[in-house]
Amino acid sequence: MNNLTSGPALFIQPHYDDVPLSCGGTVALLADRGHEPRMVTVFAGELVDEMVGPFAAWKHERWKVTDAEQVLAVRRAEDADAARTLGAPVRWLGMPDAIYRGDRYKSDHELFGPLIGEELELAIHLAEEIRHLPEWREGTRVFVPLGVGSHVDHQLVFEAGRRLAAQGAQVFAYEDCPYAIHSPAGVAARLAALGGAVGEPVLVPIGDALEKRLDAIACYRSQVPVIFRFTADFRRAVAEFAIRTGGASGPAERFWPVRPPGSR
Ligand SMILES: [Zn+2]
Repeated sequence: MNNLTSGPALFIQPHYDDVPLSCGGTVALLADRGHEPRMVTVFAGELVDEMVGPFAAWKHERWKVTDAEQVLAVRRAEDADAARTLGAPVRWLGMPDAIYRGDRYKSDHELFGPLIGEELELAIHLAEEIRHLPEWREGTRVFVPLGVGSHVDHQLVFEAGRRLAAQGAQVFAYEDCPYAIHSPAGVAARLAALGGAVGEPVLVPIGDALEKRLDAIACYRSQVPVIFRFTADFRRAVAEFAIRTGGASGPAERFWPVRPPGSR
């Protein structure tokens, strides 16, 4: 049950970058051992300029890209590079990122708040979409973000994970980096908020696969300076976090079993 480094696995990331950032070592280990893990980026929809409101335009400016088409091309190329580095193909789903979902989210503050009711519908829809992917196989283990940092898109994918767990899938939540790295208290806060929604954590020692995770993260060239604005040396920040997580086991990644709604 707890051997997370064998068998079919789908790693679901809300945005281009979340899986390599948070658990790229485990993906690389599965790939090395011939288990053919797959990645899925959820909020990777096509963009048209009309969808880019002032908040999204400000984000684009920080990423040093100006038009919607260019954003898509750059971010997909980076995601594909990172996936190749880990040895797992990536599929892009058509859902628009929160910053492009009309007027629902207009500031960083709202982007990191509680999930609003109509978004729970999206989670149910997403769970269905995942289960019907061509990559889905009998016994597929699903990895979703824990939702540390409270980004609405991350919470939404976690909720989709709970739905899948309710349907009998084995679902594990990874600790969202960089939030878990720069704000360890955020992990505890999220776990407290989740109550019985997750079980006892499982550690996966990643050993040499740590290097592949770091190389994959480096592929997100437009994002690294923004994601890691709290450090000048992202490799060191991520490596130290993995070593802290693993303790005596060496560098590791930690996963939380996701329980279906209503269980305890
Ligand atoms: Zn994200």
